[in-house]
Amino acid sequence: MSIKISIKNPYAVGTGTLYIVATPIGNLGDISTRAIEMLKLVEVIAAEDTRHSQRLLSYLGISTHMQAYHEHNEEQQAGRLIARLLQGESVAIISDAGTPLVSDPGYRLVAQAHEQGIKVVPIPGSCAAIAAMSAAGLPSDHFCFEGFPPARQAARLKYLQLLSEESRTMVFYISCHRVVETLEDMKAVFGQQRPATFARELTKTYETIRKASLGELCAWVAEDEMQSKGEMVLVVSGSVKEKSVHPLLDEILQALVDELPIKQAAKIASKITGVNKNELYEAAIKLKNKDD
Ligand code: SAM
Repeated sequence: MSIKISIKNPYAVGTGTLYIVATPIGNLGDISTRAIEMLKLVEVIAAEDTRHSQRLLSYLGISTHMQAYHEHNEEQQAGRLIARLLQGESVAIISDAGTPLVSDPGYRLVAQAHEQGIKVVPIPGSCAAIAAMSAAGLPSDHFCFEGFPPARQAARLKYLQLLSEESRTMVFYISCHRVVETLEDMKAVFGQQRPATFARELTKTYETIRKASLGELCAWVAEDEMQSKGEMVLVVSGSVKEKSVHPLLDEILQALVDELPIKQAAKIASKITGVNKNELYEAAIKLKNKDD
């Protein structure tokens, strides 16, 4: 089928719409009314695990036909779903929990839909990474989503090493099978004082959110086995570099103090080195007293 795209309508004519529908990460009350509406409206729902999603659909009174779409059949199923979309049917994709494509299948289908000029519409909602980030109490103006760190320790350490200078807040999905080892490795690479927030079982009965240093979190999780159960996100503060001090600061200040009044020496030294003027004024007084 040839794609007809006009200036007024950037989508291929006569095709259906692909909806990316977020479902709850625990609390069923978090499904949006728009998500329910769309899941009822579409011809087919592509679900990561149809048996798992059947429980949600039954709870919501939705009887739309489902098709399995997971990492093992993604290539084949994406083709089939695209064919249906091109024939004018609408499709929704859901994952077991949260937002599809966020550490979940769907990328191939969405990419192909764009290639074919099919309209892609997100129906936003729950996402464990964003929920944890919003409650972490760590700088949130810039952050990066890192997904799951590698399972094997050697690969994990190498990967964490690459992140050791990352200045943005980092959000990780952590497997409950490796939570203690992963925290240990993060402590070793990022340092035990690095602030972090451990967010477990979000929106569920045993929801636990604790902000502490990596060292403290490590000891706490290792001690209390409850903390290794369920689902968890770790939000780690970015690296804060020590402000670099001008390598010739002492020499510059000394030379200026020798020739000029203290206030003026501090002001000029501050302009040259970028160090705070008041700090340099204090240092200049000390130098002057030592010289006298
Ligand atoms: N697409 C999902 C989303 O939008 O959050 C994530 C899917 S990923 C396969 C599953 C991982 O998400 C879990 O191992 C855990 O790290 C995190 N997760 C999912 N639900 C969670 C919850 N209720 N509390 C904490 N973490 C959760």
